[in-house]
Amino acid sequence: MPDLPLLTWFLVIAALVLGILAGHFGWGKRWPGSLGKLHPDYLTGLDYLVTEQPDRALDMFLKLMDASADTIETHFALGSLYRRRGEVERAIRIHQNLLARDALAPEHREQALLALAQDYLRAGLLDRAEGLFQQVSEVPRLRVSALDALRLVYERQHDWQQALGVHRQLADAKAAPPRVVAAHYLCELAALAIERGDTMEARRLLREARAEAAPFPRAALLRAGIAERDGQLQLAARLLRQALAESPELLQAELPHLLRWVEPQAHEAVLAELVAQAESRGVNDLKRLVFAAISADLAGARQLRAPIEKVCAMDPTLLAMWRAGPEQYERTAQEIGALLAHAEKYRCVECGFSGRSFYWHCPACHSWDSFEAYAIVKLG
Ligand SMILES: [Zn+2]
Repeated sequence: MPDLPLLTWFLVIAALVLGILAGHFGWGKRWPGSLGKLHPDYLTGLDYLVTEQPDRALDMFLKLMDASADTIETHFALGSLYRRRGEVERAIRIHQNLLARDALAPEHREQALLALAQDYLRAGLLDRAEGLFQQVSEVPRLRVSALDALRLVYERQHDWQQALGVHRQLADAKAAPPRVVAAHYLCELAALAIERGDTMEARRLLREARAEAAPFPRAALLRAGIAERDGQLQLAARLLRQALAESPELLQAELPHLLRWVEPQAHEAVLAELVAQAESRGVNDLKRLVFAAISADLAGARQLRAPIEKVCAMDPTLLAMWRAGPEQYERTAQEIGALLAHAEKYRCVECGFSGRSFYWHCPACHSWDSFEAYAIVKLG
């Protein structure tokens, strides 16, 4: 049971035991004189519990429980726990069993449909999840939960138009996720428009994104790309500098673009501005800049000499190399460059997923804006 605290399991098991006892004897009836009258499977289940085999115990208890009004909430709690543990097939079995019962009250049927849809979403059965969430969204008391989950289904399907539509419905219900999420949907749509060459539509979508969230570095970055295609390099550079100021983790990937877009005689001024910006923000930003600059083959730039020395002084290995003398300068930069070339540079702060690419939307846990420059921060 690595992902559930012992107390949670204790509470679930206690609920199950109470549910079973209620089912067997009925509340208000006289308590049995001896536990010997209980079904032998119940005692087997308890045995599994004390021998720390809670999965087997749960199977046994589930087999014994009927879905009476007394035990229905226990079924839902159990289904939810299985889903959280990633045992989705079991969760699906529980909820399908509930739905198969003719005597199920309408409100419990609706709740079971919502739970089953969540199981399907967790299992990646997106078409099935979509249909059920749409059905449940017609139930007023479950509408917000169903719509919010439906939004996630559309995100996984990369159906950004539908995701945006649901976001707007949630906003009407005063239950929308942050507006920055809508801005990301608009940027996804803008990126698709750019891909098919429709830059006018892309610009319209990016203006809408900025209306949802400003400043919004992703929109500035995409707009900079359009400006480059149109030959407006000054505008492209200004937008990119704006995006980098707001989102320094983009430095690693975008610094070479920036230097390509500004005149060579302005390189020194741009680097000096980036150094001043990073120093004013703290040591992690300075590290990001130094490593991005080294990756971009800028280790020899005059403005970066002092920041590189400062960053090297934070790492014992690099410091040892540095102290070997100034003639080691190039070698130190090469070592850092080699390290970065093979390192997983980014990590999701929500789930720990790491890789060499930056994502606005984590491919593992589907969080937005959760990527940090990982190896770079870790080195210190
Ligand atoms: Zn993640």
